[in-house]
Amino acid sequence: KFFSLTLLLSLVLITHVYAQRKTIEQRVDSIMKLMTLSEKVGQLNQYSGREVTGPASDRKNYLLNDIKSGKVGSMLNVKGVKDTREIQAIALQSRLKIPLLFSLDVIHGYKTVFPIPLAESASWDLDVIRKSAQVAAEESAASGIHWTFAPMVDIARDPRWGRVMEGAGEDTYLGAKIATARVLGFQGDQLGAVDRIMACAKHFAAYGAAMAGRDYNPVDMSKQQLHEIYLPPFKAAADAGVATFMNSFNTLNGVPATGNSYLQRDILKGDWNYKGFVVSDWGSIKEMIPWGFAKNLNEASEKAILAGSDMDMESEAYKKELESLVNSGKVDIKFVDDAVRRILYKKFELGLFDNPYRFSDEKREKKVMNDPSYKKVALEAAQKSIVLLKNTNHLLPLKKDIKNIALIGPLVKAKRDQAGSWVVYADTANIVSVYEGVKQKVRGAKLTFAEGTAITGTLTTGFANAVNTAKNADIVVMVLGENWDMSGEAKSRTEIGIPGKQEELFKAIKATGKPVVVVIMAGRPLVFNTIAAQADAIVYAWFLGDQGGNAIADVLFGDFNPSGKLPISFPRNVGQIPIFYNHYNTGRPVTKPNDIRYKSAYIDAPNDPQYAFGHGLSYTDFHYSNLKLSETILNKDETLKINFTITNTGKVVGEEVVQLYIQDTFASVVRPVKELKDFAKVKLKPGESKEITFELAPEKLSFYHEEKGWIVEAGEFKIMIGAASDNIKLNSLFELRDR
Ligand code: BGC
Repeated sequence: KFFSLTLLLSLVLITHVYAQRKTIEQRVDSIMKLMTLSEKVGQLNQYSGREVTGPASDRKNYLLNDIKSGKVGSMLNVKGVKDTREIQAIALQSRLKIPLLFSLDVIHGYKTVFPIPLAESASWDLDVIRKSAQVAAEESAASGIHWTFAPMVDIARDPRWGRVMEGAGEDTYLGAKIATARVLGFQGDQLGAVDRIMACAKHFAAYGAAMAGRDYNPVDMSKQQLHEIYLPPFKAAADAGVATFMNSFNTLNGVPATGNSYLQRDILKGDWNYKGFVVSDWGSIKEMIPWGFAKNLNEASEKAILAGSDMDMESEAYKKELESLVNSGKVDIKFVDDAVRRILYKKFELGLFDNPYRFSDEKREKKVMNDPSYKKVALEAAQKSIVLLKNTNHLLPLKKDIKNIALIGPLVKAKRDQAGSWVVYADTANIVSVYEGVKQKVRGAKLTFAEGTAITGTLTTGFANAVNTAKNADIVVMVLGENWDMSGEAKSRTEIGIPGKQEELFKAIKATGKPVVVVIMAGRPLVFNTIAAQADAIVYAWFLGDQGGNAIADVLFGDFNPSGKLPISFPRNVGQIPIFYNHYNTGRPVTKPNDIRYKSAYIDAPNDPQYAFGHGLSYTDFHYSNLKLSETILNKDETLKINFTITNTGKVVGEEVVQLYIQDTFASVVRPVKELKDFAKVKLKPGESKEITFELAPEKLSFYHEEKGWIVEAGEFKIMIGAASDNIKLNSLFELRDR
């Protein structure tokens, strides 16, 4: 009885979903029939429009005219209920009254600022990542926004590239999991809820591999690297239902991504059968001209639309050229129709044809923007993003009855800097500084402060005062790093040290003989050899957003036990870049420490990073034991079960990120020394144990072969379970057989 009822219910549900889908398709068709070519092209046009609500100007008139005459499908950078309503009303004056899509870069929070995406990725906490995206969606949706240009799911192995701050780091498996969490956070399970927004997987593809870490630079890579390392997070986003994709500024093997049919037509819309739409990156259609890939805007438009770029962000290429391209027969109308259909479909799914103002609700805006529960999510995300890199002699956590603390460095009182890049709405004056956070903790203690030096520049005039301040304290906490604007788009650096004279300041403070804790704020891995060697403790705090100072103070005083793990390798120097944990072995690996003669090594630095992927300390200790495999020989289509026990052997509650790596020891193509294949975040009380099970399904053992595509090969595999990629606690072998 129960079963037949469930069957009936699911049937009803399926028919309902199907019927709904059909209606959307029918409704799209019926509008398409009414549309002129010019109106169709209009849907493919996206303008940035800060000016559209600004004071009178030529640009404003131009935009308003185009909106009114149905020449615009979407606006970027218009936000807030008042403005989005006003502009939507103008779009509804057009002949067919097709509503606009309002889009914005809601990257790590809207009103509430969350940690930068790279920081949040250090949490390896998919729930908190999903929650923060959800809060960003709730706030921005209430502000009239339908669509965010996030998540950036570009794998990045080069910290010179400023946009590492916006992604999930260097690993494909972790990156794919985080991509899914973010998409689901922004969108919910199904598009159309009034408190969720469309997400956008960007930048398709391989933007993170820009040569030499210089933004917008070309990318040349093998098909195998593309499919194995760079594409899976995009595939994960597509599988999670991401509504849109954005293409990228870079070339891929000589062809700009925006004009790249292999990427957009063959892979995305072909192999993956993706039904959403692709927006170009800002002006990337017209950038194909300076690339030397298109003679003029006309050719650029032709190449872009044929390659599957559906919406034109800020090139005005489609607007100016597409009609004549269709009329002259150079572009078949079916390409334009397909792009328009994809965009209209999303507008229907969002419910905009039923009520074009459904997102722009003043009451909701007021209520949502001041929801106190969001602060808690921001604090949790910030706490979990922090990575404890070093903690000599358990200096941390600090005792709360400490008498005299000196806070030294240019970022002690930082607010705006802690927000990082891509802040679109927030009131950064509300951000909690480290000074304020620490002050809350140690009400009775004497708290002194010296800036010492600026973030950048060569001034050392503040050193003497800082040294004196240190001398009079029991302990020194230094807060050093980048300013917010040194990482992000177009912020590539060739030197990634702590800028200015900050490391010199550290040396001067260290020379006082006082214990020194260094808190580092940055949008990327920085290089800091002296601090790494000499600081007593190092807390990597990235840019943590609104609650930064509170979260850092919680970690410093042990109210939160740090559990973050690096999602990206920290090089010892720029010359090691690119450096990442899943590298190959070479024919001349270094096998004995210090024996580097004619080995694949540097004569002036070790091969290994300063801090490895997956590294991060805790205030408690974890013991790994009892590794068991369900089988040691199995067939290629079988799933292996891996079991082990983890115990908290220390004195405080803690969370550990346990990591499963494999190595395919011999194969028809060379395989990495290690590949992350699963992880779990486990919370344990002192003395508590938990049994963990990982499942290795065949696709986790597969790799991309240039000629054969994804394959699984028989042979020997190594299993490694650890607390970091360079801290393997348990290992074992198994064999995979052809049946
Ligand atoms: C960036 C995109 C961003 C777009 C719109 C571009 O410069 O590369 O990531 O979404 O601008 O602001």
